[in-house]
Amino acid sequence: MNGKMKALVKHRRGFGAELRIVDIPAINETEVLIKVKATSICGTDVHIYSWDAWSQGRVNPPYVFGHEFSGEVVEIGDKVTSVKIGDYVSAETHIVCGTCPQCLTGQGHICKNTKIIGVDTQGCFAEYVALPAGNLWKNPAEMPLDVASIQEPMGNAVHTVLAGEVTGKTVAVIGCGPIGIMAAGVAKAAGAAKVIAFDLNDYRLKLARDMGADYTVNSGQEDPLEQAYNLTDGNGVDVVCEMSGHPAAINQGLKMATNGGRVSILSLPVKPVEINITDDIVFKGLTVQGITGRKMFQTWQQVSGLLASGQVDVTPVITHHLPLEEFEKGFELMIKGECGKVVLTP
Ligand code: ZN
Repeated sequence: MNGKMKALVKHRRGFGAELRIVDIPAINETEVLIKVKATSICGTDVHIYSWDAWSQGRVNPPYVFGHEFSGEVVEIGDKVTSVKIGDYVSAETHIVCGTCPQCLTGQGHICKNTKIIGVDTQGCFAEYVALPAGNLWKNPAEMPLDVASIQEPMGNAVHTVLAGEVTGKTVAVIGCGPIGIMAAGVAKAAGAAKVIAFDLNDYRLKLARDMGADYTVNSGQEDPLEQAYNLTDGNGVDVVCEMSGHPAAINQGLKMATNGGRVSILSLPVKPVEINITDDIVFKGLTVQGITGRKMFQTWQQVSGLLASGQVDVTPVITHHLPLEEFEKGFELMIKGECGKVVLTP
């Protein structure tokens, strides 16, 4: 499709972004052009917008960023058979190689050659986005546009929570950004006996309660370890979902886990973290696992099913809707933590 479109461009190596008029992207024979209907701001986008150390080493401005969206297929490449014009889709944001040992053994989410949409390639903070057909996930017609756009981060929550047994277990969610808030809801839906959410931000703790957390602990005002042990009859927590990235919180997570428990880490600490492997992992027999991305496409199926069945209602997490033009306001809310998910409409 020829023509121009509005797009939010990471325009320079520095703070901020700029709304520009750019060419509508061209597609190749295996790609699809999608008209973006809703797009949500991810923590990764905030890193890029703020131009932190990670983004300085990773992204190359100028380019269109953003990777969470829902939209309609408007053009397909000659070899595309999996979707048709008019389909309502979202996308897995990891573009994987399909040929490395991980991809060949069904573990595409840990592909050694992963490229991330909107980080390593052109993204979706725009009126149109061009993507490989193999990354698309078809949405049910009745799924609201904003809900469909946040399936990707919800997939992180689902992947983390459901990486081991949850039913009947006590679950701690440490760090209540939008993914942590959704993790509380997913754990509840999966039959957790008790979900305890930890954060420093009361606004976000309230959202975690709205999503189903049984107890919330403001770690700045109460001792998180004391609370975790009090709430589990002194036993400690069975499953810890670490989503804060904070060194002290990571240590608290290991210490609040009960012997034989699971600690699943989705967060990305900016620096190496010192931990007591001897006492806090080995002698406790903990399982500590890293979680990255979403299983393709097992996690997408779980997300879709949890939403369609009503087992998880993510509407409390979506706190703001703004036109793309008001992106500055959206990023400011994200930086201050005064929001759940912020959805932009191109
Ligand atoms: Zn691969």
